[in-house]
Amino acid sequence: MKVSESVLSVTNETLKISSSFYLEFIDITEQVEHAIKNSNVLNGIVVVFSKHTTSAIVIQENEPLLLEDFKVVIENIAPSSANYMHNDFETRTVHMHEDELPNGHSHCQHLYLGSSETVPIIDGKMPLGQWQRIFMIELDGDKASQVEFREVVVQILGQS
Ligand code: ZN
Repeated sequence: MKVSESVLSVTNETLKISSSFYLEFIDITEQVEHAIKNSNVLNGIVVVFSKHTTSAIVIQENEPLLLEDFKVVIENIAPSSANYMHNDFETRTVHMHEDELPNGHSHCQHLYLGSSETVPIIDGKMPLGQWQRIFMIELDGDKASQVEFREVVVQILGQS
């Protein structure tokens, strides 16, 4: 369907997502749907973007046993018990904070999962498949306990 000519609008919203543990899958689909509704965009795209290098955005199925499988797979990609140079605070000098905690595994896992998902908006809705949900995955449990929330930017671009 060809979309009629109308003004392009851009809406930005930052979701504050409270996470609490390592490999927590947080379904943020409803929050993204809410942001789309607020934007009044009927046809366009929505970008869901994590501002963190240790929390990822993915589209997957929210089936509890499958989420447990994912945790095993992600832990296998970069085991939390393995050695990472990023965790060697004796020799590392870059991006060191006072409250730095070892999270080399979190970054390496994120490398495979990515920071964002882009979804079309058609007639005011994301045309998600029956089982598709948008998740933020917390890859750093220590960080999650240090900060109040994670930030996920939702940018909606389209025509109303
Ligand atoms: Zn780090």
